[in-house]
Amino acid sequence: MSKKPIIDPDLCTGCTLCTNGGDSQVFKMNDDESAAVVAPMPNYDEHTDEINDAIDNCPSGAIAWKSDEA
Ligand code: SF4
Repeated sequence: MSKKPIIDPDLCTGCTLCTNGGDSQVFKMNDDESAAVVAPMPNYDEHTDEINDAIDNCPSGAIAWKSDEA
């Protein structure tokens, strides 16, 4: 089973916290910098700790894990 993080664009305020000042490989700001987006990558497992921290720290509760399983 693989899983990936998702960001609810209706909840994200664009605070940029999850992008870690641009250092995050997983979380990036969108083109107009109004909201964060998840960068596409084949396997998010190696970023589990960062993603869990982002979920815990997002002030809007906009980030969650989503399982790829149907
Ligand atoms: S920490 Fe949450 S509210 Fe802030 S940019 Fe990331 S997803 Fe959006």
